[in-house]
Amino acid sequence: MSRRRKMFQCGHKGYGQICHRCLQEEVGENEKKEKKRSWHDSFAFDPIDLKSLPSHVVLKARNIINGLQDRRNYREFGGKRLRHNRLVISIPVTRNYRMLCFEEDGVLQPKEVLSHEDYNICKPGS
Ligand SMILES: [Zn+2]
Repeated sequence: MSRRRKMFQCGHKGYGQICHRCLQEEVGENEKKEKKRSWHDSFAFDPIDLKSLPSHVVLKARNIINGLQDRRNYREFGGKRLRHNRLVISIPVTRNYRMLCFEEDGVLQPKEVLSHEDYNICKPGS
């Protein structure tokens, strides 16, 4: 049998029984869907809601949350106690986002991630 290029129903040309270009595209689509789904599912594991944040902020926030769960000191992440409430610790996530944590029995519990604007609004006396 000769290896002749043929035209598939989709309009692509190639060898064999199935169009490899379409097959590859389909695999790519499935991978994209799978990635999207696993990204969506990953939020179920976060102790606080990170869904509304940009993805790079989500990843940095998770890095900090993991660090705190490993009992690393908030100062390692540049965190500071708030002057007006010593039980609240503010940790910079990115230039525009900070994570607020509450200290409970010596353990830091992440409470929320705020954008710089939200943070300044809820900060009394500023
Ligand atoms: Zn094709």
